[in-house]
Amino acid sequence: MLTGIHNFCSAWTARGKKWGEQMVFQAEWIEAMRGLLGEEFEAFFAAMNEEAALALRLNALRDGAETPRAGERIPWSPYGRYLCAEDSIKTGSDIAHAAGVYYMQEASAQAPAEVLNPKPGEVVLDLCAAPGGKASQLAGKMGGCGALVANEIDFARAKALSGNLERLGVRNAAVTCESPDRLAGRWLDTFDAVLVDAPCSGEGMFRRDPDARNAWTPGSPAGCAARQAKILSSAARMVKPGGRLTYSTCTFNEFENEGAIREFLKAHPEFSPVDFALEGIGKSENGMLRLCPHKLRGDGHFVALLKRAGEAERADPRNPGRLPPALLEALPGKWPEALHGWAAEDAGGMVDALPPEMPVLDGLKALRRGLRLCEMRGYVKPDHALAMAFPPAFYDRRVVLEDEAAHAYLRGEALTLDAPDGWSHVSWRGFPLGFGKMSQGTLKNHLPKGLRLR
Ligand code: SAM
Repeated sequence: MLTGIHNFCSAWTARGKKWGEQMVFQAEWIEAMRGLLGEEFEAFFAAMNEEAALALRLNALRDGAETPRAGERIPWSPYGRYLCAEDSIKTGSDIAHAAGVYYMQEASAQAPAEVLNPKPGEVVLDLCAAPGGKASQLAGKMGGCGALVANEIDFARAKALSGNLERLGVRNAAVTCESPDRLAGRWLDTFDAVLVDAPCSGEGMFRRDPDARNAWTPGSPAGCAARQAKILSSAARMVKPGGRLTYSTCTFNEFENEGAIREFLKAHPEFSPVDFALEGIGKSENGMLRLCPHKLRGDGHFVALLKRAGEAERADPRNPGRLPPALLEALPGKWPEALHGWAAEDAGGMVDALPPEMPVLDGLKALRRGLRLCEMRGYVKPDHALAMAFPPAFYDRRVVLEDEAAHAYLRGEALTLDAPDGWSHVSWRGFPLGFGKMSQGTLKNHLPKGLRLR
């Protein structure tokens, strides 16, 4: 049964659409929330009928990242900003977006990575990572040092995840497409920090997502909880002694949140809750914090932080390596200082650079393995990922484009420029866009076809 709730707000949303005249929530869900929240329900339900706040996160890996889209600061996320009210979301034609200056990410969704708070040098797993909001936030905190594995079970979503990490200049990440159980069989006691941002019933997104509202049934939470328990138990096996596990959902119900954590702790006595606080939200209880739209400017979310017993040990890097000097000589870049200790691996004519902390990936379905440097088949062709991984000053030959030329480059056009022949890094306002190859006054465009703007 559906219950219509009328919303009389006539404002235009940041998407540029008129706010929906009618929001429809299922009666069983409304009753379940009334039971859960008691006297807070009226305030909660009023908030669920308000316009959802839209937000982005500036990329910590881009020095001086800024965009006119970024408005007020999100208290619990240092790089998080609410979207300027007058903005409309046209990321597809925005140069700053293509340059990886920011990532569109809902405000509450920026909490879990802050709670896990990985450090440079750690070995980190994001087990349910697509499309990559939290994975790229974790990568920003790691600053390119240590290893991040971003896993996604769905291949199409894993491809989107991989593309997002590339655009944002994440160089120390592998993207795998595996089940949590299979990874746990490979990577026992491996990670300093693991994030499980679990697939859930999505109640926290109901006010912006009619599909999530309509897909919900009274049985959804229990069904999701069973899947979450399986994912969590695989995740637990991969956390090192002394390591941290963060669990998050974008739903409200107890089954998938407090209930899931209670059941997990019963089955895994080696884990215990760790309390934390988030600016503008408050303190956790028993390591758990519920984010509700009537208490903050953001959607619904739940975050828990757990610690595995034991001493946190920093293992010796598995494969301290060396990138072959002859290869680096053939690549654009100021190499002697960069990627020290990283190893080169051949992937069928493509060369990847892997950080020494990266777990062994052999035999796993991996869409990305660290930083793809180049194609090498008798010639060396630098990869787009390399162009996005460092600030423009890193590259010895570079061209800097103004707005109009940058748009033309992003459309895949060749440009007439006065620059020496050879590979050239292409940038805009200090942010990378890609590579091009100069020949007699023309910059041949090497932006991958799939990334070109229409
Ligand atoms: N962390 C992501 C982000 O911040 O962009 C969002 C993750 S989303 C909430 C949950 C993800 O879990 C989805 O991409 C979904 O495909 C994936 N998933 C679905 N079933 C799964 C399973 N059985 N094991 C692992 N992941 C699963």
